[in-house]
Amino acid sequence: MSNDTLNIAFIGLGNMGGPMAQNLVSAGHKVTVFDLAPAAVAALVDVGAASADSALEASNNADCVISMLPAGKHVAGVYLGEGGLLNSLAAGTVVIDSSTIDAETAREVGAAAAAKGVHMIDAPVSGGVAAAQAGTLSFMCGGSAEAFQKALPILQGMGKNIFHAGDAGAGQVAKMCNNMLLSVIMIGTSEALQLGLKGGLDPSTLSDIMQASTGRNWTLELYNPCPGVMDTAPASNDYKPGFMVDLMCKDLHLAIGNAEQVNASTPLGRMAKQLFDAHAAEGNGQKDFSSIFTTLE
Ligand code: NAD
Repeated sequence: MSNDTLNIAFIGLGNMGGPMAQNLVSAGHKVTVFDLAPAAVAALVDVGAASADSALEASNNADCVISMLPAGKHVAGVYLGEGGLLNSLAAGTVVIDSSTIDAETAREVGAAAAAKGVHMIDAPVSGGVAAAQAGTLSFMCGGSAEAFQKALPILQGMGKNIFHAGDAGAGQVAKMCNNMLLSVIMIGTSEALQLGLKGGLDPSTLSDIMQASTGRNWTLELYNPCPGVMDTAPASNDYKPGFMVDLMCKDLHLAIGNAEQVNASTPLGRMAKQLFDAHAAEGNGQKDFSSIFTTLE
């Protein structure tokens, strides 16, 4: 498949899917959209997409189907079973599921696609709503090399860093590894900054010291959790997301569930999950995940 104008069906037009679909319209593709929420469909029609009354109708004659849905059960519901898309898609169709879901469901749907000659990849993203809008998402992909190559030009219309992590499900595993690590780094950085504050240090000075030393990491560089240290970070904007605590909890749930299945030892990941779950239960689910800093005071 070339990067010429394609017929693309886009299913799931929420915070992420909406701007991703919009970027594909801007790239010149013919995009037909479906979402259970009519307002989400209307917003895309306003910027040049065509609408459909069902996922099945949207994917009629599609060269490529893209989905951006909440969880594994939604992805299985759209693709599998009698009314599922895989029952009707032509062999050779490219399918990209960018939802963050469990690796098991991704493998199950990937296998069903392969059995039909459909080129499917799981392609969860990193970067959040701002990157979805800017077309700079990172994609971590799982599937055959052939499916990945066919999907690549389409992914390039929505993202910047695009990785082939391995076979079906590998994209989901890569994503949960990254986000589990991010949660641990955020908690560790928050602890260190709180310890410094209690010791009388200025958090900006301490951040500069750690950023130039062996504690250096992404949160210190771009996403400092202490209010006032970094103007552009959610911490300096009342912890408005950014990346919501609820979504971090979801990703940690997927990571720890997967760790149990494959018998991987993840003591820090488990502790991070406990801390983020407790933080969400105290009414902070809609805040940015760096607000975990406030629980460590
Ligand atoms: P969202 O809840 O804003 O959007 C999901 C959309 O899917 C909704 O509009 C909903 O109506 C639609 N939907 C649900 N079931 C459907 C079905 N059967 N058919 C058609 N539409 C259906 O979620 P989001 O923030 O856009 O996230 C989507 C996915 O991306 C999730 O898996 C999430 O974990 C992942 N993700 C989100 C972010 C983020 O910052 N929001 C970042 C990275 C990854």
